[in-house]
Amino acid sequence: MRRPPTLTHLVVLAATFVLLHVTGLWLLPAQATLVTYPFLLLAPLLAFASCCWQARAETSGARLPWVLLSAGIFLWACGIFLSAWEDIWQHLPQSAAWFSDFAFFLYGVPVLLALSSASEEQRIPSFIWIDATQALLTGFLLYISIFSAMPFADDTLAPVSASTLVLTYNTENFILAIAATLRVLAQPRGPERRFYLILFRFLWIYALMAYVYNNWAAVSNAHTSMDVLVDLPFLFLAVAAGAPRPLRVEGDEAAEAGGAPHRHTLALFVENVSPVFYTVALLALSTSLMRRHFYVGTAGVFAAIALYGTRSTLLQSRYIRIQRELREARDRLEQIALTDALTHTANRRRFDEALVLEWNRAIRHRHPIALLLIDIDYFKQLNDRFGHPAGDRCLVSVALALQSTLPRAGDLLARYGGEEFAAILPSTDEAGARRVALTMQEAIRMLELRNETATGPFVTVSVGAAVFESPQGGPADIVAAADQALYRAKQCGRNRIEVTTECGILRSGMQ
Ligand code: GH3
Ligand code: MG
Ligand code: MG
Repeated sequence: MRRPPTLTHLVVLAATFVLLHVTGLWLLPAQATLVTYPFLLLAPLLAFASCCWQARAETSGARLPWVLLSAGIFLWACGIFLSAWEDIWQHLPQSAAWFSDFAFFLYGVPVLLALSSASEEQRIPSFIWIDATQALLTGFLLYISIFSAMPFADDTLAPVSASTLVLTYNTENFILAIAATLRVLAQPRGPERRFYLILFRFLWIYALMAYVYNNWAAVSNAHTSMDVLVDLPFLFLAVAAGAPRPLRVEGDEAAEAGGAPHRHTLALFVENVSPVFYTVALLALSTSLMRRHFYVGTAGVFAAIALYGTRSTLLQSRYIRIQRELREARDRLEQIALTDALTHTANRRRFDEALVLEWNRAIRHRHPIALLLIDIDYFKQLNDRFGHPAGDRCLVSVALALQSTLPRAGDLLARYGGEEFAAILPSTDEAGARRVALTMQEAIRMLELRNETATGPFVTVSVGAAVFESPQGGPADIVAAADQALYRAKQCGRNRIEVTTECGILRSGMQ
């Protein structure tokens, strides 16, 4: 069975690569150009292969940044290929920018896109079109800024000088490295974290090596062992991306141990600000063009702002939609938490909350309040005779019938427990409570649900009513009073209404 290469294997291979490159240049100084280019081309190609392999292996949101980095490295490899062509076959002078430089600049486009791409949870499919437009626009503006001519036009090229080029390269490289540092500060999570850490290291090595190379080696116009500096960042990337994943990436442990690691405000801020990196780069490029190409530069500025505006609007719309969905989900959950699953009336929890509310309101406004406890008579018998499902159907019908007797918006019917219901009747005096109780009994009688018992051939209910004309004390008092009344109704033979007021039993009677 073939084993994947270990980190040590890869490091040894990279060191051998460097050694061969140096030895080749040292042994054949006269053929330095021919010796060096295969190495200079092979190093980014190896990094490209490693990144592609990572992109393929990745299933999560980190795939997109790996693809973008692969594209960037590929553009860089194109740059070195063009450079070899310009150098070996065309013998172009090194004093000005050529197409290879255009490719080297373009390398920064997908890399910056990767750095400014939103984290997985904030990504919207249409962002890909915005990013693609930004990339094309950058390519167009870069071409004009390097050659002072429109792409595909017959205008003669007026490339920028080598010194401007070196300065621009260094600026680009350090901006990318700084952007990567900020991105790491945003504490990306999971596989994204690994990607940004590798990219951060690669970009800093690249920026430093390119700085040394551009400033000392490139001006000497000859290929020396300094060329090896160019290999190093790509070999690092090839090894880092190709190496087996580390067992644990710091930060993932916390994520596995119970949710995402704690992220401070700065991290969240940087994460949210990273899409602005690209807009800022585009604005900087456009404004730098304005001096020589006013209209193109101005159009670039407008396009950068418009693209940023579109992205923000899309994100904002998504947040508003998510917020609405969350609110609806919360309302649904709240509804479920307060409703009885069988009868769809209010449940005990809702009853308790409503009673406290109405009780306090009654005290505040000095209004009477009534509470009815309605208990189905001989319900156990019905269950035993016709089965539990029939009992359930009976409960649903009784609940519907009871609900139909409470047309006032303030009244609340709840399932108090088992085959017992409760009705809170705010601003209701004794006469009113008695009337409602009678209507309830009548409504249930009309259902004609079979249950042959001592009270007759159909289901009946006993009602215990408590009426407090001027409520005092706590809501538990009215519940206890209604319970007492219900007890009496059962004791006195069922299918009755018993009323308790704060002054004691006022009246009772057989229905
Ligand atoms: P009483 O006239 O004294 O009220 O007698 P009862 O049989 O109605 O009251 P008891 O407390 O003896 O029995 C209540 C029965 O209600 C027992 C229980 O199995 C039944 N019950 C409680 N909840 C449900 C339910 O959700 N579905 C069904 N089918 N039965 C239930
Ligand atoms: Mg009962
Ligand atoms: Mg009961």
